[in-house]
Amino acid sequence: ADRVRQRTEALAAEGIDVVRVTYPDMMGSDRSRDILLHHLPHAVGHGLAFSRAVYHTGALGDHSHIAGGLEAGMPDILVRPDLTTLVPLPWEPGVAECIGDVRDPATGLPVPESPRDLLRQVIGLLIDGDLTAVVGPELEYVLLDPDPASPVGWRRYAPAPGHVYTTGRKGDPDGHLLRTVRALHALGLDVSGGNREFDSGQFEINLSHCEALDAADRAFRFKAAIKELAHAEGRLATFMAKPLNDGGGSGFHLHLSLVDADGRNVFDAPRDAYGLSATARHALAGALAHAPALSALLNPTVNSYKRFGPDTTAPWLINWGLDNRNALVRVPPERGGATRLEARLGDATANPYLAIAGLLAAAHLGIAAAEEPPAPMTGQGHDRGTAAALPTGLGQALDALEADHQLTDVLGKPFVDAFLTFKRDELARFQRYVTDWEFHEYARII
Ligand code: GLU
Ligand code: MG
Ligand code: MG
Repeated sequence: ADRVRQRTEALAAEGIDVVRVTYPDMMGSDRSRDILLHHLPHAVGHGLAFSRAVYHTGALGDHSHIAGGLEAGMPDILVRPDLTTLVPLPWEPGVAECIGDVRDPATGLPVPESPRDLLRQVIGLLIDGDLTAVVGPELEYVLLDPDPASPVGWRRYAPAPGHVYTTGRKGDPDGHLLRTVRALHALGLDVSGGNREFDSGQFEINLSHCEALDAADRAFRFKAAIKELAHAEGRLATFMAKPLNDGGGSGFHLHLSLVDADGRNVFDAPRDAYGLSATARHALAGALAHAPALSALLNPTVNSYKRFGPDTTAPWLINWGLDNRNALVRVPPERGGATRLEARLGDATANPYLAIAGLLAAAHLGIAAAEEPPAPMTGQGHDRGTAAALPTGLGQALDALEADHQLTDVLGKPFVDAFLTFKRDELARFQRYVTDWEFHEYARII
């Protein structure tokens, strides 16, 4: 309590008068409250009360059948600021931001829907084997300008044709990228760089690799910050997997390696096949073996499945390749301390905590079972060989998650049940919704 009081005084001396306490819901969206600085010691000691129903409300859903939802009277959860995550917000003078941990008021324990605790739990399994997961997230997004004439109210920013891997005013006439990477750096996100992606108005910004929970915290903050910064420009930054028909999707690639207690990358083995150690190969095999179930976590929306395809740089087959961007898992060419897997399955709608937890759980299972991967794919992968296809829709992916008992054992039944209920409700709402495509396809012709 004394330390918290000292920290509060130090913040006051730095000119901070408000703390924004934020936490991820099951979608990975940021939920938050601005509290006055003098309230911080109480918030840390007791927690801030929010309704547990936030885990259950999508845009429109009726989630009354989930524990802790409407039918239970929308009881409280408590959010305790984790002061190790506190940073001043560079674009909001006087405000510092802090991630909170969600606790059940009755027991003081994590609630099963809490993504940050789920990730901690999975990290614990690797630590038991003395391994630390190192994760490098790459997130893509599409920036949109308001457009009253567009059916969705938005159009691509900077729609002029251009190239991937460009910077400067050609693809970014208003200097959005430069402003954004600087702001993210000022927020302490350890951004390594950014560029225009394949599509107009699409950007990728890379975060440096670090320990898995830290990587998830930074990816979570990154998405919230990008949206906030775009908002300040009068724009919408979307992480939708495939926001528009005239272009590709936005990925959430995850680079993964494991290091031992001495900080040595245990994926590196110059004398083994492909320069990958048995641990690396088992982790890779685990990611492939559990890929259908993982897609529920890494591709969690009805829109996610529109990003996949043989004519995209998003995967559609469950395969891996050496420095091959058509593969679901790419092994980048670097070896030594930089030996790593790049899981390319995820799209930018994924909740960073759940995506990383899922990938680590699959790697852990592969290592535990000493699974070996099939031969690497080559070329464009049109010759599928024995590779299975990914789920083609959210329903299939949710069924695959439910059926993958090894993975659900690691993630825990209470979490999986809540996630499936939440997502199946979303899917049911979509399945009853008539889209423009159907009207155009059928209204006149049939
Ligand atoms: N946009 C692609 C995806 O959806 C990835 C492009 C790239 O390789 O950076 O995964
Ligand atoms: Mg990219
Ligand atoms: Mg990548």
